[in-house]
Amino acid sequence: MHYPQDTQVMPALAAAHLLRASNARLVTGREVTAVPRGPGGAVRGVRTDRGDIHALAVVNAAGTWGGEIAVRAGVSLPVLPRRGFVLVTEPLPPRIRHKVYAADYVGDVASDSAALQTSPVVEGTPAGPVLIGASRERVGFDRSLSLPALRALAAGATDLFPFLAEVRALRTYVGFRPYLPDHLPAIGPDPRAPGLLHACGHEGAGIGLATGTGRLIAQALTGQVPDLDLGAFRPDRFTEEAE
Ligand SMILES: Cc1cc2nc3c(=O)[nH]c(=O)nc-3n(C[C@H](O)[C@H](O)[C@H](O)COP(=O)(O)OP(=O)(O)OC[C@H]3O[C@@H](n4cnc5c(N)ncnc54)[C@H](O)[C@@H]3O)c2cc1C
Repeated sequence: MHYPQDTQVMPALAAAHLLRASNARLVTGREVTAVPRGPGGAVRGVRTDRGDIHALAVVNAAGTWGGEIAVRAGVSLPVLPRRGFVLVTEPLPPRIRHKVYAADYVGDVASDSAALQTSPVVEGTPAGPVLIGASRERVGFDRSLSLPALRALAAGATDLFPFLAEVRALRTYVGFRPYLPDHLPAIGPDPRAPGLLHACGHEGAGIGLATGTGRLIAQALTGQVPDLDLGAFRPDRFTEEAE
């Protein structure tokens, strides 16, 4: 599968640019341990392991840990981890000029199976290494290396680009895609806790969807009508199902 309109972004660099453009103050190395609520139930900021930060609104953008932050605010949000590995090759002269997916990728993304799934996605980078993704498994927060997953990734990539059989893989990395049971993110205000907003659960598309989500959250925070109806992303939609 070739998507001619596909683009590429280095997430850490994109985050640094967005941060600079926003003029926001970034405080790192603090864990949010609680989200205190006032008498009417409204959030009052966050409690961290290094003191309280008072605020009229709190945005839960804790990715795979979004469910924990929700619990710390006294609400439930069933965010779960979907493990994925990526193989990174040694730097190569440019031979893979755009991202190539095997067509079964789309089916794997939508699948509810807990078993290992690997549909190859191969992309070159400006620095030379080729990125080979991506596996999907529901194994909780297990970070241990899985040789079956890595073998399947390598085999899928060499099927698409036979010359990769001669190329060395230098490293691999693992991550956990944050997903909700219906595979849609939670975006917007939480009616159960005034002042609390959620922006998490974007599964395997959270980098691409980051700026769009940020815009929707900014609109919700400033009382504007969001560009997109947030109904499908309501953070309390799973509470209703359980009742
Ligand atoms: C193998 C793999 C391939 C992927 N490929 C793509 C892709 O091609 N395109 C794409 O768009 N997406 C892709 N994704 C998905 C993407 O990585 C995620 O959707 C995205 O990173 C989620 O971003 P986030 O900001 O919601 O969460 P994160 O990036 O996980 O950020 C959450 C932050 O919250 C912090 N945090 C958690 N708990 C607390 C606490 N109690 N107190 C303070 N801070 C806390 C964490 O430290 C972390 O910094 C991929 C994921 C994997 C695993």
